[in-house]
Parts: sequence; C-alpha cells; structure tokens
Amino acid sequence: MARNNDNDRRRPPTLAAQAMGWLDPASNGVIPAIQPSTTYARDENYEKVGGHGYTRDENPTYEQTEALLTALEEGHAALLFSSGMAAATTALLALSPGDHIVAPTVMYFGLRKWLHEVGSHWGLDVEFVPPGDIAAIAAAVRPGSTKLVWIETPCNPTWEITDIAAAAEVAHRAGAKLAVDSTVATPVLTRPLTLGADLVMHSATKFLNGHSDVLAGVLVTPRDDDWWQRIHSLRHQNGAVLGPFEAWLLLRGMRTLYLRVARSCESALTIARHFEGDRRLVDVLYPGLPGHRGHDVAEAQMTDGFGGVLSIRVAGGAQAALAVAKAVRVFVPATSLGGVESLIEHRATAEGEASPVPVDLLRLSVGIEDTGDLITDLDQALGT
Ligand SMILES: *Cc1c(COP(=O)(O)O)cnc(C)c1O
Repeated sequence: MARNNDNDRRRPPTLAAQAMGWLDPASNGVIPAIQPSTTYARDENYEKVGGHGYTRDENPTYEQTEALLTALEEGHAALLFSSGMAAATTALLALSPGDHIVAPTVMYFGLRKWLHEVGSHWGLDVEFVPPGDIAAIAAAVRPGSTKLVWIETPCNPTWEITDIAAAAEVAHRAGAKLAVDSTVATPVLTRPLTLGADLVMHSATKFLNGHSDVLAGVLVTPRDDDWWQRIHSLRHQNGAVLGPFEAWLLLRGMRTLYLRVARSCESALTIARHFEGDRRLVDVLYPGLPGHRGHDVAEAQMTDGFGGVLSIRVAGGAQAALAVAKAVRVFVPATSLGGVESLIEHRATAEGEASPVPVDLLRLSVGIEDTGDLITDLDQALGT
C-alpha cells in the first residue's frame, strides 16, 4: 500500500528515503514487512492472489525493492538477482550462441573473466575494445550480427568514462543493444536509460545496499521486449534469485542511498585533490579531476558527483603500493566497494597474473567517515 501515489511527483531521494511510501497493509507499519513464504495459497477460484505462486518467481518483498529501483532508474521494470554476477551473466545468457558482442578491455574483473572463460565457451563472440573509446566501438560493431555493446562507466579500476548517449547511438545504428554496468555511478549520479541504454545492471552489493552485508544484483529495463522476456524466463529457470531477507535489507540500505553517495563523492573529490601532484604518487585516477581523460564526459553525464571510488598509483611500484595497503589504519585492506566504511585494495593481487591493472595501483572506496581522518591515514601510510 502506498501513500500519495496519485500523480506522483516525488523526487528520487524522497522515494528512496521513504521506500516509495509504502505502509504495511496489515499494521500500517512504516517499514514494509518481510514476506519469507516460499509458497502462496490459491483463492477459492484456484487463482493466484496478487500474482503470487512460488517465491523463485514472485515475492512481495522483491517487488517492493524492484519497484524502487525501477523508479530511481526511470525504467519500466527491474529484476533482482542473487549477485551482480548473476544479474550480468543472465543478461548475457539471454543472448544466443554465435552472437557478436563488444565489451571493454577494462571492466569489472570477474565479468571479464566470465566472458573469457564461460561466455566464449558457450558461444558468445566477444570483441574487446579500449574503455570509453566510442570510435573503437563504432569500428568493432558489425551491423546485423552485433547483438550487444556492454559498457561500464566509470569502469573498474581506472575509472574511464564512456559517453552513454554516444555508445547507444553507435550500438543502435548497428542494430545492437547497449547494456551499462552502472554499479559505480548508481542512479544518484547517472541514469543510463534516459540516455538511450537498453539495460542497466548493478552489483547492488556495492553502493545500492551500502553496508557490505548483502550480496545482490539487479537489472533494469526501459521496456518489455524479447530480451527482457528471456532474462525474466532465465531468472525463473536458472533460479539465481535473491532471498526475501536480502531484498528487504537492500530496500533498507537504499533509504540512505542519496546521503551516502553524496558524502562518498564529496570525500573522494577532496582526497583526489589533496593527493594530486603528491611526489609519493605517480598518478591519482579520478574522473572529478580535470586532468582525468574522462573528465569532460563525466561532467556532462554525471550529476551531483564523480563517484565514491578512486585509484592511486604509488611511486616505487608493487612493493611500495603493498606497503601502503599494509600501513593504513582507518582504510580497511579489503576488496569490494560502496560501503559506509572506506576500503583500500591492491587490485593486481586480487586479480592474479592475467590482470591488466598496473601493479602500483591501489583502489580506494571512500566511505562516510570523517574526510580528515581518511587523508591523515593515507598520508601516514604513504610516509612509511
Ligand atoms: C562487484 C561488481 C560486480 C559483481 O557484483 P557481485 O555482486 O560481486 O556479484 C560487477 N560489476 C561491478 C562494477 C562491480 O563492482
């Protein structure tokens, strides 16, 4: 049940803070109840009630979280998955063996590995192009046979920016669709569907949930097309759904999404500016800095900030970078991003030998702690 749902003009931060304004129909509770049931009784006509039959397909708790995500992304519908990887790979497996797809050389490591090891084996014809390079995408697409262009913006862990509207135009001209991994941007900073994308994917494990305590993924579509139908059917058949408790936690986490992302972006920019030009560093990679290759596109495409993640390249190579990761006291040396606590990670170690990431690079996920504490911590760690 929702309050004020006629002629709804509430803005996204309000929708998120109030979880759309639902009240629990049984009690008028301001917080929606969790529905843990795996199955639902049919009514006296042997019909499903509210479309609910079995929880692998239908659960009121998923539906609320999906409705909020649909609203924030300005889409038509959303589907939750058990992880970001489950979401992304379902979208890819809803293509057909033999389909040609274009993907960036720099992207979330796990998905790139999946494309190499599983996607190619399954029959996807994957062509990798440099991130953010529209001309390279245009050169790679084959009109008629390219079915999908996959981009990630900003992309892990060097934060190149791809012009979504331009990528959509190039993809559509070739008869392909455009999917965007928008995990780092979140709907707070970018709404790819309004820029022409045909699918948005998030690892909801990151900023959307924001508390490093839920593994989840989501896909959002702008329309109910064949691809979306196949995605829906694959979620049902493969069964990589989220549990209702996780869906409820995610909805709870998203109540503070706009505050958390704003704070992380503000601190990330302050940290980037503070350490830019520091002689102990080779580079600071952050799209909010005018010297970053993607700055101009980011400024035009992103609203209210440049993201809560940045990378630093430490002078002295891998050993020096690892020494910094070991010396931090406030940043936590751990993988992942988008939580309220700040994390630091040596990506080359995490990705292993085939990693294209520079060995001197440390990825910083900036949380909501005191910005001065974070700067002081990095400063002392760089001094060791
Ligand atoms: C973490 C992440 C993923 C994978 O999501 P999981 O929830 O870990 O499966 C995909 N893309 C990006 C950009 C990520 O950061």
